[in-house]
Amino acid sequence: MRRIKRDDTVRVLTGRDRGKQGQVRQIIAERDRVVVQGISMIKRHMKASGMNQPAAIVEREAAIHMSNVRLICPQCNNPTGVGFRTQANGARVRYCKRCDQDID
Ligand SMILES: [Zn+2]
Repeated sequence: MRRIKRDDTVRVLTGRDRGKQGQVRQIIAERDRVVVQGISMIKRHMKASGMNQPAAIVEREAAIHMSNVRLICPQCNNPTGVGFRTQANGARVRYCKRCDQDID
């Protein structure tokens, strides 16, 4: 189970976009990285490939390491540490270390 999931809102802790927030669009589990909407934008130069696709510069998000983001707790709206615990019905859930509420 991971601390960060798709569609979470996270805050960026380091780099050019430090302090910005965005929604997690993709988790790259094997590299412990996340792609966050609007964060760490990079320009890629696409070569022309035939008549239908001219050369272009495409902007997209670069993946950033999970340790560089912090979850924004949906309950208390603060950047927080995430813990794990088991509910009475046996389900493992994440919880906010700041407000102590279950996140999901
Ligand atoms: Zn909280």
